[in-house]
Amino acid sequence: MKQSVKNAVCYTIAPKDLAGHLFEVSVTIDAPAPQGQIFSLPAWIPGSYMIREFSRNIVQIRAAAAGKKVALKKLDKHTWQAAPCAGPLRLQYEVYAWDLSVRAAHLDQTHGFFNGTSVFLQAHGHEAEQHVVDIQPPAGLKWGVATTLPELKAKRYGFGTYMAADYDELIDHPVEMGTFELGSFKAHGVQHDVVFTGRVPNLDMARITADLQKICETQIALFEPKTKRAPMQRYVFMSMVTADGYGGLEHRASTALMCAREDLPVKGKPTDGDGYRNFLGLCSHEYFHTWNVKRIKPAVFAPYDLRQETHTPLLWVFEGFTSYYDDLMLVRSGVIDQAGYFKAIAKTVNMVLRGAGRHKQSIAESSFDAWTKYYRQDENSPNAIVSYYTKGSLVALALDLTIRAETRGKKSLDDVMRALWQRYGRDFYTPKGGRGVTEAELEALIDQVSGLKLKSRLERWVRGTADLPLVELLAPFSIELAEPVKNAKPGLGVRTAREGNDCKLATVYEGHAAHKAGLSGGDLLVALDGLRVTAANLDKLLERYRIGDTLTLHAFRRDELMSFSVKLLSDDVPKWDMKAAADKSVAAERGRKAWLA
Ligand code: ZN
Repeated sequence: MKQSVKNAVCYTIAPKDLAGHLFEVSVTIDAPAPQGQIFSLPAWIPGSYMIREFSRNIVQIRAAAAGKKVALKKLDKHTWQAAPCAGPLRLQYEVYAWDLSVRAAHLDQTHGFFNGTSVFLQAHGHEAEQHVVDIQPPAGLKWGVATTLPELKAKRYGFGTYMAADYDELIDHPVEMGTFELGSFKAHGVQHDVVFTGRVPNLDMARITADLQKICETQIALFEPKTKRAPMQRYVFMSMVTADGYGGLEHRASTALMCAREDLPVKGKPTDGDGYRNFLGLCSHEYFHTWNVKRIKPAVFAPYDLRQETHTPLLWVFEGFTSYYDDLMLVRSGVIDQAGYFKAIAKTVNMVLRGAGRHKQSIAESSFDAWTKYYRQDENSPNAIVSYYTKGSLVALALDLTIRAETRGKKSLDDVMRALWQRYGRDFYTPKGGRGVTEAELEALIDQVSGLKLKSRLERWVRGTADLPLVELLAPFSIELAEPVKNAKPGLGVRTAREGNDCKLATVYEGHAAHKAGLSGGDLLVALDGLRVTAANLDKLLERYRIGDTLTLHAFRRDELMSFSVKLLSDDVPKWDMKAAADKSVAAERGRKAWLA
């Protein structure tokens, strides 16, 4: 590649073998370190807090300078050192890309997708230089390119040369290539693209862009009510559509999403069910991260250390608050109504109340241990951990309602978010630069902005394990979070999973009937009082019994048949419901309007 930018680390990436899922990548630097240039690949990707060791997908790697081979020594699992040589030094390698997720890279005949963390080696000592990447097309195919990497010598949506100010920026703009479906809209003057890869007949793109525009404009106005200035120059929602995909990963000017085909609206048909709402909620969540975690960051993420775990007790703010605002932005932008919003909160309440883990782990601990616990869940997780997403969003709700009630509507969590934005986020990627926020600074800021003393409550909600006083906090807004109706249904206290036609215990909830009888996660249920149990009929079989009845369950553990005597208890699945109270005062009405409208 011709070098047109000074002091640049230059890459090429080409989809080389679609059937073999191989990208061919090269990196060239003019002035390698005299003692031997070091290169490494990140062990994790920001936003997904688990060690993934992307270097395991590098298939073969070689180095050359002035047409001669240069020896490469491997220093650890993701680090190489080239022998001392004069520049330019060029490394060439292949990356196996067959991870259909938003976190890594994927390539076949239908499309290509990559995050820089999966494909671009970091040239140590050169991180702050310009990074240039030539994205090359596959032979014989007419594909387009979707990315928010700034174009250097490329047309928008075309192959060619893109650039980034430094390595950190290079790996924060994922790239999608293929024959995607493209929609566009402007939100407060800023270009937003929506890109779908995967077959979606009769996709109602007009509906999607109209709804996303409302959500994006609501969020921009939340952070910058006066100027309505978006934090990025353009934004892309890039979405891979599969039969049952769900997930997203945030970036500074884009998001990579996986979504289910049936969740997307069809031209000329009304949407029913929660699928499309969930899709919009996912988009809203990732978009909110543009401010909250991509620019307002925990201090330990500024800068990221991509070689190892980076622990923070604050994911309850960066994921929990984001989860609170994702649905709140849907109701404020009018994409869902208040009843729909209350339903979403009740669902979160019921999810949090389901597991005994909430009494054993606080959300600060859950944040800190995300790497080894939340991201590596097993059959026992509901009994052992709490989610900093779900409980974190309820803490945000509790905090917002408390500030609104105790300041008589003068302040809210919105003011806290704006103060965080002004103090830590707004300048983060500008030449002025910014830094991350610490736990102590965050808590001081909440008190300062609200004028309240919330320390002891935060201590209980964030570092304690008691349930949150949501019923009391919602009452001044004339919203009822109703006691669960006493449930007369008997249950085993398990979560099941289908395994072929069989019924497998995915989780055995602590203290419930199956746990008391000795059953375990992983057991394959075979018979209930001598009748065959399948994945489809367990609930039907249980309907013939009452709470207090004792029955015999046969199950396979490994390949050994075991028999259990189970005394049925109430199924105790939380079924809290949230709705507007019938009698509403003028003050409550006003408070609710300020919060939700
Ligand atoms: Zn998130």
